[in-house]
Amino acid sequence: MSKVADSIRTLHASLPEGVELVAVSKFHPVETLREAYDAGQRIFGESRIQELLPKIEAMPADVRWHFIGHLQTNKVRQLLRTGRIALIESVDSLRLLDLIDAESERLGLVTGVLLQVHVAAEETKTGFTPEELLDYFRTRRFERLRATHLYGLMGMATNTDDAARIRADFLAIAGLAREIRAIAPDLRGFDTLSMGMSDDYPLAIEAGSNLVRVGTAIFGHRDYSKK
Ligand SMILES: *Cc1c(COP(=O)(O)O)cnc(C)c1O
Repeated sequence: MSKVADSIRTLHASLPEGVELVAVSKFHPVETLREAYDAGQRIFGESRIQELLPKIEAMPADVRWHFIGHLQTNKVRQLLRTGRIALIESVDSLRLLDLIDAESERLGLVTGVLLQVHVAAEETKTGFTPEELLDYFRTRRFERLRATHLYGLMGMATNTDDAARIRADFLAIAGLAREIRAIAPDLRGFDTLSMGMSDDYPLAIEAGSNLVRVGTAIFGHRDYSKK
């Protein structure tokens, strides 16, 4: 069995009931994705449109594609026009959210999204601050969305070896999701918590994650020089 197939089977067997796996396949070739698919994996995560489009064409139609990278507003139409995006996990501004909503309505789609929240220490990571999100829900601006479904939050922990810090970051994101549900109890289906990558997904699951985004632990290291 290939290493990729082996990792997929091991992960599927070890993830708790109710936790879904996104196989983060960015920078890996289609043949490698197909090994994961043949081992039973159906959700794949990609972060760049120019890489995602040919992969959508090449992979079977029952793959559920998650977009997990920074999405530029001028690329929204191109992404949504595929009609194949199951979830945009990385909505990091209201401008982007409004644009996704407008384009989805124009295309006759309902687009599922997660709001990316920034709690990590690194300034470089993007996303809403917890205060921005609480304000958005308190003021009930989400009611204006016409063709977008808010499924929950996505977030990353600080890039550190300090397990206590990582756990605290994940618990902060999980707590924020609970707070939002308390502020807007009528918000339906806001229950996805996408947290955890190769190095920290067990801690994320302990903190309440139900969607883990694992790349390196499945596919090995990415060769960024290739593209
Ligand atoms: C690349 C990426 C991952 C996967 O990271 P690994 O450490 O390779 O598991 C997860 N989430 C996001 C948002 C990413 O960009």
